[in-house]
Formats: sequence, C-alpha cells, structure tokens
Amino acid sequence: MAKTIIISNRLPVQLQIDNGSISAIPSVGGLATGMKSVHSEGESLWIGWSGLTEEEIPEDLEDDIDAALAEHGSSKVKLTAEEVDGFYYGFSNRTIWPLFHYFLEYSEFELASWETYKAVNQKFADAILEKADKDDIIWVHDYQLMLVPRMVREKRPETSIGFFLHIPFPSFEIFRTLPWRAEVLSGLLGSDLIGFHTYDYERHFLSSIRRILGLEVSFNDIYLDDRIVKVDSFPMGIDYAKFSEAAKTHQSLPKKEQSELQRRLNKHKESTPDAKFLLSIDRLDYSKGIAKRLNAYEYFLNKYPQYKEKVRLIILAVPSRSNVPQYQLLKKEIDELVGRINGELATVSWTPIWYFYRSMPFENLIDLYTSCDIAWLTPIRDGMNLVAKEYIATRTDKTGVLILSEMAGSANEMNEALLINPNNFEQIADTIHRAIQMPPKEQKSRNDVLQKRLERYNVEKWANDFMRSLTDQRDKDPAYV
Ligand code: UDP
Repeated sequence: MAKTIIISNRLPVQLQIDNGSISAIPSVGGLATGMKSVHSEGESLWIGWSGLTEEEIPEDLEDDIDAALAEHGSSKVKLTAEEVDGFYYGFSNRTIWPLFHYFLEYSEFELASWETYKAVNQKFADAILEKADKDDIIWVHDYQLMLVPRMVREKRPETSIGFFLHIPFPSFEIFRTLPWRAEVLSGLLGSDLIGFHTYDYERHFLSSIRRILGLEVSFNDIYLDDRIVKVDSFPMGIDYAKFSEAAKTHQSLPKKEQSELQRRLNKHKESTPDAKFLLSIDRLDYSKGIAKRLNAYEYFLNKYPQYKEKVRLIILAVPSRSNVPQYQLLKKEIDELVGRINGELATVSWTPIWYFYRSMPFENLIDLYTSCDIAWLTPIRDGMNLVAKEYIATRTDKTGVLILSEMAGSANEMNEALLINPNNFEQIADTIHRAIQMPPKEQKSRNDVLQKRLERYNVEKWANDFMRSLTDQRDKDPAYV
C-alpha cells in the first residue's frame, strides 16, 4: 500500500535520554496537529532531524532511538553539530529567513553555509530515497529543505512530490539578490505542487520563476519540458477545537484550580475593573516587530495619556535561535526598552509593561488569551501568524479585539480584525484607542464571522486540501493513468 512521506527539518517528537533510557514525546505544534490526518499510523512516515546531533547520540543507544521514533512513525536524519551550524543556524536562519522576511541587511551570503545547506538537503533526500516505495507520495516542508524536491526527482522521476513554504516568498526584487537564486528555484521545481500561505507569496514566486528562469507560466501552472508544476495558496489554519474547548474548560474551572498566573490576572482586574489588558505573544524574532511595538506603545500612552494606569501591555517573548547574533542583540534591545519605558512611566500602582521572556505551557497561553481584552500583534513580516487565530478561537463569549499587522499572512483571512501598518505609530495609537472603546456588540459581530471562518478552515482542512491537490495533480499525469 502506498504511503505518505512527510519531511521537515524537525521531527514531530522530542527525544529524551534519561540515564540511558530513551523516550520520544510527541510535540504539540500546529504542523504536527495538522498532519495528524495525513500522518496516521501505518500509512505514513515522517522523516526529520531528531534535535540531537550525532555527537550527542551515544552509539550504543542508536537502535533504541530508532525504535522509539518508529513507534511514532518517525525516522531520523543524522546531522553533525557542524552540519546543524552551517545548514540550520547558517544558511537557513542567516540567509533565507532574513531575506524572505525582507531583512536584506541581515542576510549573509556565505558560500560555505550554502555548501552545507546543499549537502544536508542531499542527506534528507537520500533518507527519502532509502525509505520511499514507487507509489509513495512525498510532502516536503519549508525553507530548510528547498533543494530536496529536485534531488528526489532526479533519482525517482515518477514520484509525486509536494512542497509547502511556511514563510513568505519575497518579491522578485528581494529574491534576486540571492547568489544561488536559480538553484533554489530549480530545487523547488522538482515538486509537482508548490504551496504558499497566501496568493501574494504565490505571485512573487511565479514572477521570480518567469524572470530568473525564463519559464512559461500560465495561471498557476509552470511549464517544464516534461512536466507541469502547479502552484497554489493554502492558508494554514489552527486546531480550532483544541483552543475553543480549552477556553471553555478554563472558564468553568473552580477558583482553587486556576493557575497562579490566572489568579494574578484576576487580582489586577478586580483592583482596577475598568483597566484593559493588551496582549502580545511572539517568538523573539526581528520579523515580529517587538521593539517597534514597544515604541508604539509609548507613543500611544503619550498621545492618549488618559489611559495611563488603565492599560497594561503583557508581552510574552518566546526564546528563539539565541545563538544567532541578531537575536542576541534584539533580546538586549527589548530588555532595555522595557526597562526604560517602565522606568519612565510606572507609578506606585502601575507597571505599563509586563514582560515575560520564556515559553509558556499551553494552560498559561489559554489564561492569557482568555484574560486579555485586546491582542496586539504587529509583525513587520510574518508568513502567517497563528497566534492571531488562536486568540480569536479562545474568545468563547465572542468579546475581544484583535489588532493585527497587515504584513501578517493571516491578515488576508482576518479582515474583521483591526488591521494596521506596524510602521504607522499614529494609526496604531488611534487603533488601540478605538479597540478600547469598541462596544461589545461590535466586538461580537466581528468575532462571530472570524470564528466561523477559522473553525471551517482549520489545520486539518489545510493538510487535506493540500494532499487532495497533490493527488489530483498526480492523477492528471499520463504516467500514472
Ligand atoms: N506558542 C507556544 N508557547 C509559547 C507561546 C506561543 O507554543 O509560550 C505557540 C503559539 O501557540 C503558536 C506558535 O507558538 O501556535 C507561534 O506560531 P506563529 O505562527 O504565531 O509564529 P511562528 O513562531 O511560527 O513564527
């Protein structure tokens, strides 16, 4: 029976080695959840890096590790610390990530990292080739593995291969600056179907295909000599039921079972009932615009001083890629900004910003989502932004206002949110004021539409739509008929 092979940089399980015994714990991220319907036991295999370098895996445990992964339908690609450095921290996160998020000045074009990226992509492709049978369907994920489709196609021309990019695809003017632009495009064109979050990313990609490779493009189809590659947009959703159910359960919890965080939030609400909580949650990444948001918050408090002592900004910044220098600098900048703004504006009874630099357990995320009156998410660039969708899904009574950057992929599907340009402080300040003043009736009517849409286009539907499109593409190919 044909199976589906899913391939991504990281596996959907985390390995733990404790005193020589191995366990594999499934991760709860959006991708893992979305793929559940695709990655069901027996019919699929997930290939990826385990998170441990070759040097960290004791040789005598290798078989146990493979067995633990196999229990979760997973198989590992072995990477050395040097490979992880050049491929992941290097080319993926110092070249592609900044470039595709329009941070041209942060992009490093290092030949050595590119070489490692190619070599590691080959390792992933080899892992697929080793495991794949003739009729298997292969789904490759994200910017770390853009060369894999071509590498697989070269050895197995008949295989059905899909690729999904989880980050933006930049405009031609940005993409053209990459020294290896043609190789990257040609790597992707090994696929039968290439998916993006939005129509704009798709358009940018097709324009680069035309202008860099000179290929013929008609609507969504790219014409190669021997095949047609289809390009389409598939906006990724969330596990809607998980968030809305968690919020319902959370609201019915007796007081004594509430978390410490929730109790503290309640206490502040009780002491100043007309005060508002603004929430911002992101990985600590320069694309998320956290520093700019802090400056905009200060601007807002100065423009609308009536809200001093009445609003609190809760910032949750999740540690990310902390061995890349730009991330370390950003951390320092944010620490200093929070310190300065709190130092200048705080009063004995009011701290304008509550800043958490950590990852929170799911229960605490739900505490924050359900307790905050406004979610304020202002990425400078963001492929999708799932936090925006999760916030809306948890608003069981349909109140709550979402202020969202128009530069986030999710803004395309969330027109009922208050959309802002993250560089326009005047507009941001006025929008926060508007959000605070928004009557509950208007909040509810906006969120009602959003919730219905998010519930329908959930992450499972995203995965199924992509797979359906990939199998349709295969069925149209005369080689399969
Ligand atoms: N998240 C998490 N722990 C935290 C804060 C956030 O697991 O402490 C999750 C959040 O629920 C969301 C994801 O991290 O699903 C962030 O996804 P998003 O698309 O917003 O941004 P990304 O980090 O992928 O750029």
